[in-house]
Amino acid sequence: MHRVHNFSAGPATLPIEALQKAQSELLDYHGKGASIMEMSHRGAEYTEVNSQAVTRFRRLLGVGEEFEVLFLQGGASSQFMMVPYNYLRENETADYLNTGSWSKKAIKEARLFGNVNIGYSSEDKNFASVPGDGELGLTPDAKYVHFTSNNTIFGTEYKKEPETNGVPLVCDASSNFLSRPVDMSKYGIIYAGAQKNLGPAGVTVVIIRKDFLEKAHTDKIPTMLKYQTHAEKLFNTPPSFAVYMVNLVMEWLEEKGGIAAMDKINEEKAELLYGEIDKDEFYKGTVEPKSRSRMNVTFRLGSEDLEKKFISEAANNGMIGLKGHRSVGGVRASIYNACSLDSVKTLVSFMDEFRKSNG
Ligand SMILES: *Cc1c(COP(=O)(O)O)cnc(C)c1O
Repeated sequence: MHRVHNFSAGPATLPIEALQKAQSELLDYHGKGASIMEMSHRGAEYTEVNSQAVTRFRRLLGVGEEFEVLFLQGGASSQFMMVPYNYLRENETADYLNTGSWSKKAIKEARLFGNVNIGYSSEDKNFASVPGDGELGLTPDAKYVHFTSNNTIFGTEYKKEPETNGVPLVCDASSNFLSRPVDMSKYGIIYAGAQKNLGPAGVTVVIIRKDFLEKAHTDKIPTMLKYQTHAEKLFNTPPSFAVYMVNLVMEWLEEKGGIAAMDKINEEKAELLYGEIDKDEFYKGTVEPKSRSRMNVTFRLGSEDLEKKFISEAANNGMIGLKGHRSVGGVRASIYNACSLDSVKTLVSFMDEFRKSNG
C-alpha cells in the first residue's frame, strides 16, 4: 500500500487507524451482514454510533448535557446563514470579526437578517492578523460575537477566545476544532465542517449551548433551518456514514490522549515548520508572527516560478496538497490533527534540501 504525505487543506488527511477500522467493517458491520451505510438511521446500530459520537464530543470538550451536539448538512457555509436566521432580526445587532474569506461570507449572510457591526477587520492588510487584546470594537448588547478561530486560507489563528464581556461567542472552528483547548463557558455555538479536522466531507458538527438555544427566535424559520428541530430529535436522515467516520476519528483522538495531547503535538509540528521558514529569507511567512496558524502554514518563495518548482518537486517526493489557495498564492501546508509529526519532518527536510539546491 502507498500513502503520501498529505498536506491538503480539506478534505484532508485522516488517521490511518480510523480508515483501517472503517475498511474492516465496511462490508459486514459487527456481524450484521451489511455496511453501516446500508442500515436504517433509526436502527440500533446507527443509534449507537450517533450517541457514541455525541458522547465523545462532550468528553473531549469536557462538557456535559448543557451542550447539544448536532450533525447537520450543508457545510459550514450553511451555518453562515443558519446562525443569523435563528438569532438575528432587523432591529438586532451581532458583532462579526472579519479575519478572512470565510468571515466575509458569514458577514454577507448575517446582513440579510439584521445589523452587523464589524468589531475588527484585518482586510486592509490582506488578512495578515487576528485581533489581540484591546483591538475589538464591540456592541454592548450584541446578540452574539461571531469569529473564525482559524483562517484556513490566510493562515492565521486565535491563540485564545476574543474577550466579549459576557456576550456569547459563535465560532466557525472548521479548520482547528479539537486541535487546542477551548473555554466552552464562553460559547453559544461552535460549528465545524468535518472535512478539515474531524472526518470526511458531508457532515457539519454544531455544538450549541442549551441556554443559548432557548434564546433563539422560533417564528418564521423553516423547519430544517431551525436548531431546535435538530436538538429535539433526529428529525430526518443524518449523513450516517460521515457521522460514523467522525466517530472513528474521535475514538482515535481519545486514544491519542485527547485535546491536551493534540495541543502539544500540534505546537511541536508548527514550531518545526515555522522554524524552517524563519531560518533565513529563502522562505517568507505571509502573516504576522503573533497571528500564525498552527493548522495552515502559509509561505512564499522568491518567485512564482520557484513556488511552482517547489510544489512539483514536493509532489515527486510524495508530498501533496501544498499549493496555496488561489486568492493568496504561494505554498500552504495544512497540518491538522491527523497530519503526523513524521509528515511534517519529511516536509521540513525537503524544504531544507530545496533551499540548498535553489538558494
Ligand atoms: C472550509 C471552511 C469553510 C467552508 O466549509 P464548507 O463545509 O465547504 O461549507 C468555512 N469556514 C472555514 C474556516 C473553513 O475552513
